[in-house]
Amino acid sequence: MAGALFVISGPAGAGKGTLLGRAVEQLPRSWVSISATTRAPRGSEQDGVEYFFLSREEFEQRIAQDGFIEYALVHGNYYGTPLEPIREHVRQGDAVFLEIDVQGAFQVLDKIPDAKLIFIAPPSMEVLEQRLRGRATDSEEQITLRLANAAGELEASKRYHHVVVNDELERATQELVQVIQSYVGY
Ligand code: 5GP
Repeated sequence: MAGALFVISGPAGAGKGTLLGRAVEQLPRSWVSISATTRAPRGSEQDGVEYFFLSREEFEQRIAQDGFIEYALVHGNYYGTPLEPIREHVRQGDAVFLEIDVQGAFQVLDKIPDAKLIFIAPPSMEVLEQRLRGRATDSEEQITLRLANAAGELEASKRYHHVVVNDELERATQELVQVIQSYVGY
């Protein structure tokens, strides 16, 4: 492989999207994959920007066509990573990032053993709960489900190559950038 493939996971509300966005700004030649999902758009989310929003039927068709490097049912919805753009960007030499859940991360590692798994952890479960309530986009039911899933995700993080604790945004961003640079060398 010409480039490098990084898988970023962490509980909803751990701040992985924010951290990754900031890290990518400091890294030339990086590209973040856009996943497909069957969940409904939240707030101002747009098709083709945060996700490709598909119906369940469309998603299952793409599974049948081997269109995903991995996919998983997360919180009751399908999420999947389109395969072709990843091949292309890795071939071009980019640092490629997948922001996916822990089930998907291990599927990617099985297929691409060179992939590096990085887990973004909250400082504590209490802080995670505060952050989830603070963003006020999810229903109470979704918050409860996400907190329950977080415990299992923290357990799975033991099998990741790196764990970055998002205690303070600037510090955690620099740690993430350093981890990535240790592999790509730029
Ligand atoms: P959210 O609905 O909050 O955007 O994402 C819910 C969860 O789905 C997060 O843990 C996120 O990392 C995960 N996720 C997003 N895209 C993908 C994907 O393509 N594959 C997998 N396996 N998980 C994903």
